[in-house]
Amino acid sequence: MLRRPASRRWPLDLDAPQRKRLAKDAFELIERVQDARNHGPIFVPTPAQRVQAMRAAPPEHGTDLTELVERLGAAAEGGWSKAHGGDLGFVPNGGLYSGVIAALLAAGLHAFTATALESPGLVALEESVLHWLAALFGMPPATEGLLLSGGSLANQTAIVCARDQGDFAPDRSVAYLSERVHHSLRKAMRLCGIPAGCIRSIRATSVGPTLGRMDTQALGEQVERDRALGLRPWLIVGVAGSTDTGSVDDLNELAAFASRHRAWFHVDAAYGGMFALTKRGAARLQGIAAADSVVVDAHKGLFLPYGVAAVLVRHPGALARAHSEQAAYMRDVQRLADLPNYFERGPELTRPFRGMLVWLPLHLHGVAAFRQALDRSLDLAQLAAARLRVDPAIDVLHDPDLSIVAFRAAAGDAATQRVFASINASGQLRVSSTTLHDRTAIRLAFLHPRTGEAQIEVVEQSVRRALG
Ligand SMILES: *Cc1c(COP(=O)(O)O)cnc(C)c1O
Repeated sequence: MLRRPASRRWPLDLDAPQRKRLAKDAFELIERVQDARNHGPIFVPTPAQRVQAMRAAPPEHGTDLTELVERLGAAAEGGWSKAHGGDLGFVPNGGLYSGVIAALLAAGLHAFTATALESPGLVALEESVLHWLAALFGMPPATEGLLLSGGSLANQTAIVCARDQGDFAPDRSVAYLSERVHHSLRKAMRLCGIPAGCIRSIRATSVGPTLGRMDTQALGEQVERDRALGLRPWLIVGVAGSTDTGSVDDLNELAAFASRHRAWFHVDAAYGGMFALTKRGAARLQGIAAADSVVVDAHKGLFLPYGVAAVLVRHPGALARAHSEQAAYMRDVQRLADLPNYFERGPELTRPFRGMLVWLPLHLHGVAAFRQALDRSLDLAQLAAARLRVDPAIDVLHDPDLSIVAFRAAAGDAATQRVFASINASGQLRVSSTTLHDRTAIRLAFLHPRTGEAQIEVVEQSVRRALG
């Protein structure tokens, strides 16, 4: 019997029944994996041969979809579930289902959003997201932005702007960063060619209510020393929600400082920025309105699928001046009044339609739903701090500025390590740790709409099991 070559089953251009079948099987797989990852164990080991199997090169002729779905399901099952309410490690990602659909639509609408003329309506949609964010931070209406893949690239884009627009000179400019900044900022500096000698790491407060915030007295002293050497402050970075303790620098004070010294004021609000939607968060983030540039991750504080963050720059034209280039083959690219060509604002030309990832969930659920979920994360952090404080064997290290609580065992690092292991061995939670002033601290990062009091109870039980 003559066998039809497998590739004929899935020609590149699918007909309607084939498209339907593909979509149906894909959605069933998504349902299956989401269900297992949200409600099953938070960690599932992946057998080595399963990892190995996924390294296979593509076949010359096509494979049946059922088999591919099986393979994908098996591969996706293993590892740490980031969609689980028990994920309190690093910075959690909510994995909103509406975001999954948004990602599908972003590809399905096949929008080229590097230039306005190709899809004016969808570029306007993306602009609505950027303007909404700028207004949320109290930045002026002329603020310009760009959606990028994450806080790392967004920070880098802001640093490029600060370097080219903020009067940087390698022999006399100095950048001031808290010792607690995210490593992406140091990486960005390096990639932007900022010599290490231009960077000062300013210590953060180690105890008390201001734990983890940049020590502004130390900043002042360092600036005086640099000034005396004839150097000039060029950049001051404020952290609005540090990754390890969720601490927010005194942004008002840093803004005043930057303005006094005519330095560029960048705020890394990758983790903490979306808390501006809540009353408490907005109070914490005061001063962010004065920033020259702000970065916020939508795949953190808006619980969206991975791959979307915003950089906002207060000075119209600054992003374009730092990024635009000429080429003969681009001569037919036109400008539309009132809509940007995003490729002129950042490192990418062709780019995914990231605006959709943010727009659909915001319009579908409404802003209040996000505000409530973020408020709840703040509540849970406070509740966890209060409950852990009751135990004399535990030192809670701060009143959380936002939704991350840091604590350790009073008895020392070995005991802290036992608590850490006990929480992660519960099978219901994942936490991560950090080093604060040479000692281990466990962090509980609340930023998941599925997290509730039940998870705090598991922490308490695990602490008792480890220290009891
Ligand atoms: C997560 C994070 C980043 C990096 O963002 P990615 O989206 O992971 O690239 C930068 N700064 C802070 C404060 C963060 O928490």
